[in-house]
Amino acid sequence: MIAENLKKILSGLPPEVKLVAVSKYHPLDDIKEAYAAGQRLFGENRPQELEKKVKELAESGECPDIQWNFLGHLQTNKLKQVLPYASLVQSIDTIHLLQEVDKWGKKNDKVINVLLELHIGAEETKQGFHEEEILELLFGASKYANIRFCGLMGMASHTDDMETVHADFERIKSFMDYLTDLFPELVDFKELSIGMSGDYETAIDCGSTMVRIGTAIFGERSY
Ligand SMILES: *Cc1c(COP(=O)(O)O)cnc(C)c1O
Repeated sequence: MIAENLKKILSGLPPEVKLVAVSKYHPLDDIKEAYAAGQRLFGENRPQELEKKVKELAESGECPDIQWNFLGHLQTNKLKQVLPYASLVQSIDTIHLLQEVDKWGKKNDKVINVLLELHIGAEETKQGFHEEEILELLFGASKYANIRFCGLMGMASHTDDMETVHADFERIKSFMDYLTDLFPELVDFKELSIGMSGDYETAIDCGSTMVRIGTAIFGERSY
């Protein structure tokens, strides 16, 4: 089932769009199944779960070239459960977190790849930066010697109204274009991580370079 789902999704993705298989709340066996089907890039949103999965796979020696992205809210006291393992942290949502990740990088002699999470859509509670905060932050990007700014991550409004979703994604895309024009020195700033199970096709129409898909690969999560 997982292999079939992956195949179906991949057949609809342009070759340059990366697929993050979001495996949060799903057991290791599901990850192994996706790996066996060729998937290498996985996403998790809870530090403890990520670390546990990484360690179990390392112990058994399975899935040797698996890659992890972190895409959940990250508390600064959990960095050591995430930063040694994640090739990309997609969910940087405060200056404080960014500063702490930079510090961790310095201490561990590592440059951390990050996406800045953009707050978009209607929900007041949704985490992420506002556009002007991202602008200000990137004007000071050189302060963060151990951070590599790789782009933006965003979620559309939580709605079935695809016109609203489309408008949200268009807005993220045009902000992304604005930033890449304004900061040509940030040569790695090119990923636009938009699109989930319910809206990834729309996201691709709007210029997504990376989709994060869980349910459509692994089925419903049981929390
Ligand atoms: C869970 C999650 C996803 C995947 O959601 P699905 O609807 O299951 O595809 C994508 N992005 C983030 C940030 C998530 O937390």
